[in-house]
Amino acid sequence: MSKADSISTIKGIGPATEPFFHKIGVRTVQDLIDYYPRAYTDFSEITPIADIVPGLVTLKAKITKISGRYVRRGMHITEAIAEDSTGSVRLVWFNQPYRAQGTSSDTDYFISGVFELSRQKMVLLNPTTEKVSDLPISTARIIPRYKETKGLKSTQIRKAIREVLPAIAVEQETLPPWMLKKNKLSSRSEATRAMHFPGSMKELNDAKNRLGFEEVFELALASLLNKEEHSHEHALQVPFVESLAKSFVSHLPFELTPDQKRVIWQIYQDMQSDDPMNRLVEGDVGSGKTVVATMAALMVLNQGFQVAFMAPTELLARQHAETIHALLKPLQLEHTVGLLVGSLTSAQKKAAHGHIESGKVSFIVGTHALIQEKVDMKNLGLVIIDEQHRFGVAQRKQLQKKAGHMPHVLSMTATPIPRTLALTLYGELDISIIKTKPKGRKPIETSIVSPNSTKDVYLAIDAEIDQGRQVFVVCPLINDSETLQAVHSVGKVHKDLSLGPFKHRKVGLLHGKLPADEKNAIMQDFVDKKLDILVSTTVIEVGVDVPNATIMLIQSADRFGLAQLHQLRGRVGRSEYQGYCYLVLSDSKAPSKRLQIFERNSDGFKLAELDLELRGPGAIYGTFQHGQLDLRVAKLTDVALIESARNAARDFIKKDEKLVYYKHLADRVNTLRSVTNLN
Ligand code: ADP
Ligand code: MG
Repeated sequence: MSKADSISTIKGIGPATEPFFHKIGVRTVQDLIDYYPRAYTDFSEITPIADIVPGLVTLKAKITKISGRYVRRGMHITEAIAEDSTGSVRLVWFNQPYRAQGTSSDTDYFISGVFELSRQKMVLLNPTTEKVSDLPISTARIIPRYKETKGLKSTQIRKAIREVLPAIAVEQETLPPWMLKKNKLSSRSEATRAMHFPGSMKELNDAKNRLGFEEVFELALASLLNKEEHSHEHALQVPFVESLAKSFVSHLPFELTPDQKRVIWQIYQDMQSDDPMNRLVEGDVGSGKTVVATMAALMVLNQGFQVAFMAPTELLARQHAETIHALLKPLQLEHTVGLLVGSLTSAQKKAAHGHIESGKVSFIVGTHALIQEKVDMKNLGLVIIDEQHRFGVAQRKQLQKKAGHMPHVLSMTATPIPRTLALTLYGELDISIIKTKPKGRKPIETSIVSPNSTKDVYLAIDAEIDQGRQVFVVCPLINDSETLQAVHSVGKVHKDLSLGPFKHRKVGLLHGKLPADEKNAIMQDFVDKKLDILVSTTVIEVGVDVPNATIMLIQSADRFGLAQLHQLRGRVGRSEYQGYCYLVLSDSKAPSKRLQIFERNSDGFKLAELDLELRGPGAIYGTFQHGQLDLRVAKLTDVALIESARNAARDFIKKDEKLVYYKHLADRVNTLRSVTNLN
């Protein structure tokens, strides 16, 4: 059997079952081998019948007195007795009429199932049985559970895997021998076998450790190789002019935090070199990243180069353009801030392109439009990407291509991943962290609210408005739909609030379906305090900065993920005023663990870590929005594993190992390089 063979060559997979395997992405023997289980149930311990207690049990027993009958229409029941030398127990199956056939009373069986109460009697309910004389696959061992599809059960997958065990036994090693030895890793073939047929929990854990190590090692290596490649590129050198930085700071209405100062200094040092900067600034919501980015831009503009600033939403791009314009204005530099967003008319766009190409506009703020449109930015010195997790890698590539040379790149994110992980996955990036928030910020008071006790919350909100503060109310959907009756639509919430508890207040409505100029006008009204309450969809999720707003009320909060909730909550608590966040549940059920975690934790870094733990392996997908980067085995919270895999990647390069000698590794790493490559 060759691994490239179609699965139809496997005994037991015929024309009838093959299409189901295709559905789960398994076409070849190799695909099947790589189809790891997603969970396991330990049925390995065999218990004498006299000793069984409720729960999972495996018996080694004879099956006698088996008989089946219909108890009523559509309800078949099979009953039997299992007997070993210590005693007997009842077996019951519902709607499995074939059970009674082919079971012989003088054969020993492994019987695995749950010993539980059924119709007031303790029985083994719907157990799985296999002859002891066969190699058991679904009883008497640690049973792998595969992701199933309609028409394909775990049992069938297990049977197919049993057939390819000989191919697994000769699986080739993918990692260098020194690496296995140093990290005490099992061989690839042994680990793969143990994933599907673990002999013990220890064997299974070793297998996961080995395969998880390999995954993280591949990522780390791809990232390091990218970094090496970048080191040959050239960027425009941006000298540091101290008097200019001082002058900028002297015009700020606040003092920079020590973290802000440190990060700005790191950026200035990066940009003085002609090695392109590739730095990621991780700073929690409200930590003051915009001013850091503006200071970076300052030096670049001063040198006569252009800066492109990309934001994930148009609302945010417009806000940034204004903030940046205001921050730079007192310096009277030769610069113009221009906006390039999707909603401009074609005449406006054409004018904008002209200004960018002629260099009249030196600071270009925009959304995806920046990369989608054919506009030359030959003089581009710096690219700033706000909330970088929002952008696909391909998009970042495009933007950088426009320059013809490598611009310096500064990415900023408020959805941090733990540092060790970031260093591994983004090894090609230098990372700066803004840990502390500006002085005087108070932690936001967060509370979970059941839908029938919103009255008190409304009173509290009203009192805040009396103090001159403003309020965001966020809802998950635009339209009420029948299936999502519990979900409040913005329209309905807006109506209910503005006609009910807040009829004496000014309540605005904002959602993504409104025309862009209307959206901007409403946002502007809110900024200008012409509105007390803004009812909105998640269009305001990221980046929006209205320091006078102190309350964030989230409707159907259970429908949001942790990262999204944290972004939303980050819209308040952006000034010296106390901020509040209310999480209104969509029903009166107990709040989820996720929401409770969120209620208790305000640190974005901590939340990111907890989020990873909650979601388990594969969670990386949500973070990076790229399936190729998905991890199937490694736990991203396993710091020790991640660190040793990262060291292994460094060693690989240090030892001058060549990828060509490791075909499997080379294939993986090259794919990963193309999706993580930032240029
Ligand atoms: P984020 O890191 O979420 O992008 P912003 O850059 O939008 O945060 O800053 C949040 C708010 O904090 C803004 O109103 C900004 O003017 C203000 N701010 C930034 N730095 C400081 C500071 N050092 N002291 C006080 N306020 C600051
Ligand atoms: Mg921001």
